[in-house]
Amino acid sequence: MPAPKTIIVSNRLPVRIEKDGDSLTYKPSEGGLATALGSIYKDGDNIWVGWPGASFESDALKAEVTEGLKKESMRPVFLTDDELDKFYLGFCNQTLWPAFHYFLQYIDYTQENWESYVAVNQKFAEAIAEYTNEGDTLWVHDYQLLLLPAMLRKKFPKISIGFFQHIPFPSYEVFRILPWRRELLEGMLGADYLGFHTYDDMRHFLSSAHRLAGYPYSGNQIQLEDRTVVADPLPMGIDYDKYADNAVHPESIEREERYRKSLGPQRLMLSMDRLDYSKGIPRRLQAFDELLERYPEYREKVSLLLIVVPSRDQVPNYQALKEQVDELVGKINSKYGRMSWVPIHYFYRSYPFTALGAFYRMCDVAVITPVRDGMNLVCKEYVASREKQDGVLILSEMAGAAKELSDAILVNPTDENQVVEAMHRALQMPVEEQKQHMATMQATVRKYNIFSWVELFFENLERVKRLQVSMRTVALSAEKRSELVNSFQSAKKRLLLLDYDGTLVNFHNDPQACAPDEALLKDLSALAKHPKNEVVVISGRKHETLGKWLGSIPVHLVAEHGVWSREAGKGWEKNIDADAEGWHAEAGEIMNFYVDRTPGTFVETKSNSLVWHYRKAEKGLGEMRKSELTSQLKHMLGERGFQVLDGDHVIELKPEGINKGRSAKLWQDAANAEFTLCLGDDTTDEDMFKSLPKTAFTVKVGPGTSHARFGIDGVKDVRDLLSLLVDK
Ligand code: UDP
Repeated sequence: MPAPKTIIVSNRLPVRIEKDGDSLTYKPSEGGLATALGSIYKDGDNIWVGWPGASFESDALKAEVTEGLKKESMRPVFLTDDELDKFYLGFCNQTLWPAFHYFLQYIDYTQENWESYVAVNQKFAEAIAEYTNEGDTLWVHDYQLLLLPAMLRKKFPKISIGFFQHIPFPSYEVFRILPWRRELLEGMLGADYLGFHTYDDMRHFLSSAHRLAGYPYSGNQIQLEDRTVVADPLPMGIDYDKYADNAVHPESIEREERYRKSLGPQRLMLSMDRLDYSKGIPRRLQAFDELLERYPEYREKVSLLLIVVPSRDQVPNYQALKEQVDELVGKINSKYGRMSWVPIHYFYRSYPFTALGAFYRMCDVAVITPVRDGMNLVCKEYVASREKQDGVLILSEMAGAAKELSDAILVNPTDENQVVEAMHRALQMPVEEQKQHMATMQATVRKYNIFSWVELFFENLERVKRLQVSMRTVALSAEKRSELVNSFQSAKKRLLLLDYDGTLVNFHNDPQACAPDEALLKDLSALAKHPKNEVVVISGRKHETLGKWLGSIPVHLVAEHGVWSREAGKGWEKNIDADAEGWHAEAGEIMNFYVDRTPGTFVETKSNSLVWHYRKAEKGLGEMRKSELTSQLKHMLGERGFQVLDGDHVIELKPEGINKGRSAKLWQDAANAEFTLCLGDDTTDEDMFKSLPKTAFTVKVGPGTSHARFGIDGVKDVRDLLSLLVDK
């Protein structure tokens, strides 16, 4: 087996391939992500897989590019012009981008584009599979490759897959509009660890996974049949030192001086983004117009430096936006401009790094007001570049960065009045106050930088893998089963702890229709009669029911998770004596209050517990009411020795210390058995698995992760296993 390696995957490789006469040159990108991941993908056998950024038609050229990229630790996935059109321009930029940025009016629903998206993700999966082994770690980036994690999971069931979403994840109400929502979710859930920029993005994802695909989650963990997946907010940072150093680089300073000479002494506000409707450029211009209208004292004193970086200019919406920006700039400049002063200095192009350094140095205020932005790095770069700690950042609440930079002047970008007043306040802010805020923001941006982001991502992914291993059961194979039968046979004393529903019998819509059949009674009876065996059925059911169904055979019974117990041939014993009347009435009243307000819920009364069921309540509402009810019950119970148990779409209120684990342990201690077999299928059985010694044969019935050592498919396998033990 080759040494494990790390594979980074993104739509675009961090390289620019240029023609230099007859040969090709490879210029690595200087972007933040590429720099931060540089120490990773260039190390040992690690690689970065992605599209090389241009079309290469002939096989000979493709072979040359592949060879050339190999030296850079990169592997290309070539895309055809048709794929670039449908997958990239189409589905990525005209379906997912607007949907995830809440621009519903721009969503394109072309089925052909979706098909191309599937095909390209598949193409990535095939390409990656060529270099991948089960022990490797994969980190997939962004919305162009949402299906890839599941495709890779299919090929490598145990591999570590991390995924990071660089753009927002929209609210369930928006996400569900997409016809391919379920496939997209299932694709993402192929990962083990999913990172998002903000807590809200993560929350939206969890809610969509739950409501659209039915996966339960608790905290930030989603329970799939075979794995626990973790979603997490992990805001991406920048290479702080690189920007801080660039700001004092002689070339940046020289540029600033040069620009200053032609501009004059006016104060500058910076606006810098890619051309994109999510960036809110027209609204920002309108606010600047209003600032000059409302506060004429800024005329001739303040200019806006408007840098717009060309982007996606083949998409019609972007062309229209460009025209709108051109028009607004023309309007404002002609309205207020003087021979000696231009209100807006507008540049539609991208700039070299030291020019950015000069812009960040020169501008007293940065106005960053996207209507929606996953993170926004420009604002962090501005902060890192403010060598003297002066300068004011106006930042949209709708940018992921706003969650970290609460010392900025935060604005709602659609509230023009608020943006205008923020500009005014920024221009008036005393330097001391500016420094206070800037120092705090610098400390944040420095600490949560891109290197710590990368480190944390891998650490978190590893932690999830460890969690999964601790929850993994081994299938009870033929070999393991004969091992089990052998130790059963050689033991002098044997204990069988058996759950009832879902373990010995299948579930039925009518709970009363689960009575044991003849074959089960016969096997249980034979097992129980063997002098070396103690057979205990441990169930959550009422003692009356268990007594009726199993009372005629010599098995021991534990009912209601341990409230009642009955040794074979004896009478029922109640293990606690709580003040049933008092707490039942009080807690029942509270539960019923929630039943009245939550359609689809009901209360079940057991002799020593009360259960509130919410399986049929509207998804989300049930969970919300559950939290409210839980805290109210906990408040009511105070120190009265009760516990509120969170079950599968139920919460159960019962006296403390009563659970199947306690009963299993009591039997384990009493029986003094050399061999213990414990079978169960649901969360209440996990208490049994946890309470037994490591040597016990604990077996989880059905899919899912568990504390049990082994897993078995279903009731039929349980019955076969028990039959095997009869007469041995
Ligand atoms: N940028 C650039 N050239 C320019 C202007 C900006 O490379 O002429 C960079 C800028 O420094 C920042 C990135 O483009 O790192 C924009 O990232 P951001 O997250 O703010 O927005 P995005 O374009 O990713 O939506």
